[in-house]
Amino acid sequence: MSFLRAQCDFGPRNPGSPGHRQCREYLVAQLKKHAEFVTTQQFIFSYDSPPKSETGYNIIGRFQVAKKNRVLLCAHWDTRPWADEDPDPAHHRTPVPGANDGASGVAVLLHMAELVAATPPTVGVDIVFFDAEDAGTHQENRTWALGSAAFAREFAYAFSPRYAILIDMIGDAQLNIYQDGYSVQYSRALVNKLWDKATELGINEFIPEVGYIVYDDHVPLLQAGIQSVDIIDFDYKYWHTLADTPDKCSAASLEKVGRVVTAVIYEE
Ligand SMILES: [Zn+2]
Repeated sequence: MSFLRAQCDFGPRNPGSPGHRQCREYLVAQLKKHAEFVTTQQFIFSYDSPPKSETGYNIIGRFQVAKKNRVLLCAHWDTRPWADEDPDPAHHRTPVPGANDGASGVAVLLHMAELVAATPPTVGVDIVFFDAEDAGTHQENRTWALGSAAFAREFAYAFSPRYAILIDMIGDAQLNIYQDGYSVQYSRALVNKLWDKATELGINEFIPEVGYIVYDDHVPLLQAGIQSVDIIDFDYKYWHTLADTPDKCSAASLEKVGRVVTAVIYEE
């Protein structure tokens, strides 16, 4: 939860903003404390409306680089430039605070970076924070998940993980994690492994039914041939509003998701 708050303290982290630059430096510094190797991948992307070019930065931390057998853990760190679901139309061009939508997944992975460094699992781990996930136009899939698309183009083959686990919007104090349709369709065995583990651990917030079909950072990874699951709670009242603040999130929710992912990767 302190990792979630630390990100929100920088303000909105939409690409090009001061909070984005400060948070990037913070995430690189955090990963450097624990990872064997840290790098950023820069890419240029454009917003549709208004048309504008911006630089995106994926932030990559690698653990036990010599290991061939690897898993990829990922989350998006950027926040949406527009609160276009806010009940007040006056806020529709204002950037969101992104406590749940942005900071929550990254917070869990920052803690996992500590765990993986302190007690290495049998598999090698790569942690990637994707940029430019959330600057898209609704109904236009190609405008979303641009960081993961850039990562998949440049690194899918070099990293060749056995699979990828994406976590997104998992901090909601009212946690309900249904399965995502793309994940079930293209990576059913991994979905079952995660939801079965949650059941075994008594974490009933993982509900073994498809809830939504979510175009998220896992889709470009799936398209690059990587088995990938999106763990996402899409029932979030404050999604893309100015009310997506830390008080809507809970440490207990972050912990539940962290426990499931940790249990799965430490059993590989
Ligand atoms: Zn979003």
